[in-house]
Amino acid sequence: MENNEKYLRVNAIKNGTVLDHIPSEQIFRVIDILGIQDSTNPVTFGVNLDSKSMGKKGIIKLAERFFKDDELNKIALVAPMASVNIIKNFEVIEKKVLTIPETITGIVKCINPMCVTNHQEIETKFRTIVKENEIKLLCSYCEKTTDSKHLKIISNSH
Ligand SMILES: [Zn+2]
Repeated sequence: MENNEKYLRVNAIKNGTVLDHIPSEQIFRVIDILGIQDSTNPVTFGVNLDSKSMGKKGIIKLAERFFKDDELNKIALVAPMASVNIIKNFEVIEKKVLTIPETITGIVKCINPMCVTNHQEIETKFRTIVKENEIKLLCSYCEKTTDSKHLKIISNSH
């Protein structure tokens, strides 16, 4: 099992980033948040893979792609338990732990249809609130909270 997991993590990637332990249903949100859809390097991902700790999980492998910590921390919004492995020469050289950012600007739409950010060209801004392992976002403009199940990601692709 141990060998198998290691194989899955590093398979096909010489240098790059592997995002592991992502809830399967959040994988496309993670792709959106990181703007991976624009990647010109090989990207592979899987969902509903067996996981000892999660039951089922998703995984994304990005060749030749490295992220800044503040970019990676944004995915904690939808995948707080994700693990990030940095691969160099087929070896995991670093494991990063995600930190939930205190504030989030852009990325997410406010759930409130009346919110000014949904009517004018204003970048959204939220404070993060973590309660019982769930992340909620408190809008700085209308003070409504958006929970992680209703997150609408503003696509990062432009
Ligand atoms: Zn709002």
